[in-house]
Amino acid sequence: MATVTALLQLSSQLAPVSDSPRLDVELLLCHCLQKPRSFLRTWPERKLTAAQQQQFDELLQRRQEGEPIAYLTGERGFWTLDLAVSASTLIPRPETELLVEHSLRLLAGRPQATVLDLGTGTGAIALALASEHPGWHIDACDVQPDAVALAEHNRVKHQLSNVRLFQSDWFTVVPAKRYQLIVSNPPYIDATDQHLQQGDVRFEPLSALVAERQGMADIETIITGAGNYLASGAWLLIEHGFEQAQAVQACFTAVGFSQVFSAQDLAGLDRVTGGQLIIASGAAADG
Ligand code: GLN
Repeated sequence: MATVTALLQLSSQLAPVSDSPRLDVELLLCHCLQKPRSFLRTWPERKLTAAQQQQFDELLQRRQEGEPIAYLTGERGFWTLDLAVSASTLIPRPETELLVEHSLRLLAGRPQATVLDLGTGTGAIALALASEHPGWHIDACDVQPDAVALAEHNRVKHQLSNVRLFQSDWFTVVPAKRYQLIVSNPPYIDATDQHLQQGDVRFEPLSALVAERQGMADIETIITGAGNYLASGAWLLIEHGFEQAQAVQACFTAVGFSQVFSAQDLAGLDRVTGGQLIIASGAAADG
């Protein structure tokens, strides 16, 4: 059987399909060896067992055919959490951590808050917020039952008792209460976008990626519906495509949000837009 060093050299085979071939091979090796990445540096001459080698060969082959690393290993790191992932939902993206950062900023200094995460997928955003603030109560929903089950698995894995998961098509089954924050990473890609034919996204469910009306349909549903579920002074925060900030801001403003802002991801692209809803006193109870 081959050594760790020899197998790492196979990373060149992934160059056509991956931006990070070396990292991919490291992650596959760690998965087969059931060891952390530091093990590869410490034991470069370690030989794989026959079973490990066979598993590695199969996974490398599937990666060469384009399958995302996260689906091959069944996990992806997000914020401080290792999350289980499956083909039932989107693989958590680093840029989505921007939603977590701004959620924490907007509700800074509040030991208690109620938060709603719409379209939670793996549970990434809800669980990251819950892990930072044990005193917050977070409701999180997804329209796909398999995603709800996966998010619940991740909730139990990280023992986060302050998150409640349920199936809902956006607001349809959300309880009639008013949250301090609604946060969402909805589908926002146009069905004709070439990006959908390339790389890892080809293996992800279209329902988590694509929205009608140039990718704006679900974003608009969330912005127009949020007013019934936000306390006065509460915030709505949405991830969107890098060319959608203007349209998303216009939608926020049209339904009466103030303090509307957009924030850029690490690539410098507009990625998140937020706004605050002030409800005239007497119009709605803050509860
Ligand atoms: N940012 C993701 C991508 O470009 C899409 C995520 C989403 O639709 N919410 O692949």
